[in-house]
Amino acid sequence: MDYLPVFLRLDARPVVVVGGGQIALRKAGWLRKAGADVTVVSPLVHPELAEQAARGELTHIAAEFSPEQIASAVAVVAATGDRATNARISATARARGVPVNVVDDAELSTFIFPAIVDRSPIVVAVSSAGLAPVLARRVREQIESLLPERLGALARFMGSRRKAVQRALGAFARRAVWERIASGPVATHVLRGDESQAERALGRELLTAQLTAPGDGAGRRLGEVYLIGAGPGDPDLLTLRALQLLQRADVILYDRLVSEAVLERARRDAERIFVGKESGGHDPQERIHELLVRLAAEGKRVARLKGGDPFVFGRGGEELELLGAHGIPCTVVPGITAALGAAAAAELPLTHRRLASSVTLVAGQLSDGALPDWRFLANPKHTVVVYMGVAQLPDIVSRLRAAGAAAGHPATIVERATLPEQRILRGTLSNIVALAQAHRVEPPSILILGDVAAFAATEAGADLLHPAPARGVPA
Ligand code: SAH
Repeated sequence: MDYLPVFLRLDARPVVVVGGGQIALRKAGWLRKAGADVTVVSPLVHPELAEQAARGELTHIAAEFSPEQIASAVAVVAATGDRATNARISATARARGVPVNVVDDAELSTFIFPAIVDRSPIVVAVSSAGLAPVLARRVREQIESLLPERLGALARFMGSRRKAVQRALGAFARRAVWERIASGPVATHVLRGDESQAERALGRELLTAQLTAPGDGAGRRLGEVYLIGAGPGDPDLLTLRALQLLQRADVILYDRLVSEAVLERARRDAERIFVGKESGGHDPQERIHELLVRLAAEGKRVARLKGGDPFVFGRGGEELELLGAHGIPCTVVPGITAALGAAAAAELPLTHRRLASSVTLVAGQLSDGALPDWRFLANPKHTVVVYMGVAQLPDIVSRLRAAGAAAGHPATIVERATLPEQRILRGTLSNIVALAQAHRVEPPSILILGDVAAFAATEAGADLLHPAPARGVPA
């Protein structure tokens, strides 16, 4: 280790930044964030620095560097952009035993600025000892995406309940309870921004711990369920919250639509249970319900991972009702539904000022639920996205035609959208069935209908954009 990472208290302490450019502005910004009393030394300064000086947020000395300027400084930053001057500043500071940072020059520096993830009071600092700042910043970005936005709020929540937990529990039980607070429903609620639910969950944690004999593992953990949308398949389309909760889950219940690549983003040692239709039993949903309740009752953090979004043809509503009925805390994390994934992958805007201003998502399994209004769906200026429709394709086409849709009504099929094997078939109502058969389209596929389905931003679709929308198969 070339540098010892430490956190410096700068509260109202004098720090001198020599230089007045963009970099000086940035360094001064970090120093001010930490509460330092900043003085910027430079004949000319960035307009923002001048404004800050005018507002009294820092002091500006409009002069070249001279040693007496750093007489009382607890740290010095040299950001003049001139190596000789920087070297002189560094030598002066070192002679006085004042820590000095020379921008982009580890050799002349006695301290360096790390790349920072700021979730105050939680702060993560990453350093490459000045060798590869770009790499350090990439590492910072990766860490940042894993840390929930409200992590600081969680730290403050925990800090402000220290006394209450101390009063409620003996030293032995405390540690285990803090662990559960940091990783169970209390944390989930705070991170979602719901502190009153968190307060209730904290009460339950404390009660459980008090009711359990010491030595009994200091109380059972309260289980919880995360109902997570896994998106259409490409793991980069997971939301940050989905990733964060997948890193936390003890058990993952997933179905067929959840790609292996997505599962790989979960905690390595999490137990994985496949609960898709092929997993046996006459009604897989019954088994899922049984598993959710049992695992949560065992104190597990259960991720229920569903393709797309849990609330779009995902039976997420039923699972939410079940969990509610059993008093099991549940967090719903939206996912990118197949319609949106397919639209982006095929570059078909689902709405477009000239082509469509409304969208309907329908299930192709027409026996499920109420029948759609076909006359409404047959309007090419209205976009229709059909889920689970491969087997029903001929039926859907003939119903739309009967309801008045033209033979040239654009229709696009996206198979395995966003996955490496993705295929896109563009056609019209007159040929889409034949196309699907010829190319042996298989589930999961989605069907996009309406003028937007023929959209193409480049050559082939240029006639669509100007002047009047054309119909038929784009060339
Ligand atoms: N909850 C899911 C939908 C589940 S229903 C969601 O929000 O996306 C299953 C249907 O979704 C499939 O039959 C198919 O029509 C569609 N689907 C899911 N993933 C898909 C993908 N990667 N490509 C195309 N269609 C997909």
